[in-house]
Amino acid sequence: MSAILKPGETIGILGGGQLGRMIATAAARLGLKTHIFCPDVDSPAFDVATLTTIANYDDQDALEAFADQVSVVTYEFENVPFETAEFLQARVPVRPGSKALKVSQDRLTEKQFLLTRAGVATAPFADVTSLPDLNESLTRFGGKGVLKTRRFGYDGKGQVMIHSVDEAQSALAALGNQPAILEGLIEFDKEISVIVARSLDGRISCYDPTENYHRNHILKTSSVPANIDSDCAQKAKRMAETIATSLDYIGVMGVEFFVVDGDGQQSLLVNEIAPRVHNSGHWTEDACITSQFEQHARAVAGWSLASATRHSNVIMENLIGDDAKSWKSILQEENAKLTLYGKAEIRDGRKMGHVNRLSPLS
Ligand code: AMP
Repeated sequence: MSAILKPGETIGILGGGQLGRMIATAAARLGLKTHIFCPDVDSPAFDVATLTTIANYDDQDALEAFADQVSVVTYEFENVPFETAEFLQARVPVRPGSKALKVSQDRLTEKQFLLTRAGVATAPFADVTSLPDLNESLTRFGGKGVLKTRRFGYDGKGQVMIHSVDEAQSALAALGNQPAILEGLIEFDKEISVIVARSLDGRISCYDPTENYHRNHILKTSSVPANIDSDCAQKAKRMAETIATSLDYIGVMGVEFFVVDGDGQQSLLVNEIAPRVHNSGHWTEDACITSQFEQHARAVAGWSLASATRHSNVIMENLIGDDAKSWKSILQEENAKLTLYGKAEIRDGRKMGHVNRLSPLS
């Protein structure tokens, strides 16, 4: 099977959420078909894909049939079981490769990779497997820190803020005594992220950094340009590029940073990487020449990337839970571009859609 797809060939996507839906829509525009593989019957991506499979990620018969029907496989969430990626990789190219999955699925592996292989700065961290471990590292980090499960954390789940050594035992218990890492508590000024794309032939295209604001641990807005100095912006882009290159990455990746102010200078710590299109990149759909979704489809198809140049300022707002009820009034706004994910049921904390509010480039 060729490493470079032809129009009409099929990209297989593991995961059927809104990210898969938006990749499938962008792929369709390029004349590529998509096949969504997801265990959930109500997956938003099913509405817009050419083919669908409803099966568990460990169903080898279903995976075998899926691999036979697609030319390349990608994924829209990072907790794809590693065995699933390896099973598919033996049959069809998987992009990004299983290395990116392995690194990003475990916060300890991820931090070690970032620090030693990619050579970028992170918050101080320590491996925690027991209460004595936690006590020792808390003491080293000045009695404060953020305890995070090594695996399956997202949107603030699987993590506890610790403010004194006395809280150690209850923090470990709150995380179910799972293997964890302790991070030093960073007094950051801002949180930013960079969306970076890398093609099969190693070319890189990077979007402008976005400034992210979270509400109840869930991304609420992403604003571009980020209110950071231009040195800091350039540095963030270079760091994202370095990470993508050191992973031999193919596709779009999100890199989240803390911006720390000190001595009149802004410095950057990488918080985490996401080996997929990213919520903080949804603004690219309406404010850039090429969206992150098209860029990802191009990259995994083995095609060249297009320009990531931004032509507008933009604030992306996530429509979470009841926020989505304001869809009618958003439609009345002249410079607002609404995207709804087609989810039937509104639930608290559920991402239902987003709106990009555009203004002229400053
Ligand atoms: P994460 O799941 O690692 O992205 O963390 C979720 C949020 O918790 C981040 O967006 C930060 O607002 C906060 N957070 C995570 N790690 C740290 C840290 N080491 N110091 C301070 N705040 C943190």
